[in-house]
Amino acid sequence: MLWLLPIRLQSSRCRKVTTNRFDFMDTKVLKPTKENISYCAELIKGGEVVGMPTETVYGLAANAFDEAAVEKIFKVKNRPADNPLIVHIADIDMLKELAVDIPDIALSVCKKFWPGPITLVLPKSDKIPFITSGGLDTVGIRLPSNEVARELIKACGLPLAAPSANLSGSPSPTTAEHVFDDLNGRIYAILDGGRCSVGVESTVISFESDIIRLLRPGRISVDDLKTVASEVIIDKGVLDVISNDSKVKSPGMKYKHYSPKADVVLVDGSIEFFERYVSERNSADTYVLIFDNDNISDDIKSIRYGSTSEQQAERIFAVLREIDKIGAKKVYARCPSKDGVGLAVYNRMIRAAGFKVIKEGD
Ligand code: AMP
Ligand code: MG
Repeated sequence: MLWLLPIRLQSSRCRKVTTNRFDFMDTKVLKPTKENISYCAELIKGGEVVGMPTETVYGLAANAFDEAAVEKIFKVKNRPADNPLIVHIADIDMLKELAVDIPDIALSVCKKFWPGPITLVLPKSDKIPFITSGGLDTVGIRLPSNEVARELIKACGLPLAAPSANLSGSPSPTTAEHVFDDLNGRIYAILDGGRCSVGVESTVISFESDIIRLLRPGRISVDDLKTVASEVIIDKGVLDVISNDSKVKSPGMKYKHYSPKADVVLVDGSIEFFERYVSERNSADTYVLIFDNDNISDDIKSIRYGSTSEQQAERIFAVLREIDKIGAKKVYARCPSKDGVGLAVYNRMIRAAGFKVIKEGD
């Protein structure tokens, strides 16, 4: 395989990949049998990257200690070098090798929510290269509950750096087919573990003494976190626009994200207001994203994305991909609730909409 183009050292911590070119690889989608998991582990130990299922979204996994392998993740995804990767582990003992000065509250979070969809940002040990942490002194660590992911990590005997297995900027993948659609020809293998049960990326948190700061909302909600912390602060980046050159606590939040090619607008209000608003603007390539229990005129082409926040989380990325496949140019979406995992759905949807929100009564 050729990795043709030069890598420019931008600073001692953050490398920037100038251009990506690939020899076309034969991308295999593999059932998660013991043999296939061993095969993928051999690929990873040999410095390759592999698509793996997790309960949140599919990840693009490589040896977190191997700088050259981690660099391939950035190239394959076309990911900005300052966007840190989450390191996935198979048991809690691995945590102590990767992080230092772990506060007691972090251990309480692990005890309560691991294995599961939550990532802890902690001071990194020297074993984690800066390319993995996006140049930061901290590292995001997660112990997933997905059995295939854990079997793969165990078979490697290594922590796996794994961001979402999509091209940077596009909706995250929640099936092996989504990974194939984005990365066909760029990687050798994808383990097919079926559809992800959670559907949105992990909750990301950091710690300030006994306080938890929510950097990215996910399935583990603010109320869940309040059961272990005296206070939970929602970081500004969760709900607000962040400029690309600003220094933020969770760098991923500043990038254009989850965006389909269609122009998405979020409409916040009753179904009556929504229907009136869209009817006045309806055209041949206009679609709406609505909830399962919404009643709306048959003249408006609609895609439904669940009724509960859990269902919306599970389906949001698949419907964002679907609207591109059907060639929608303009999409009006019903505004999700911000309660529980709804906050995660809202956080992703508002980014897909480029922060364009129409409010009833404004
Ligand atoms: P992805 O794996 O594509 O979902 O992206 C991981 C996201 O987790 C990043 O974009 C950051 O927002 C967040 N993250 C990972 N590591 C850190 C860290 N050390 N500090 C702050 N945020 C982090
Ligand atoms: Mg991502």
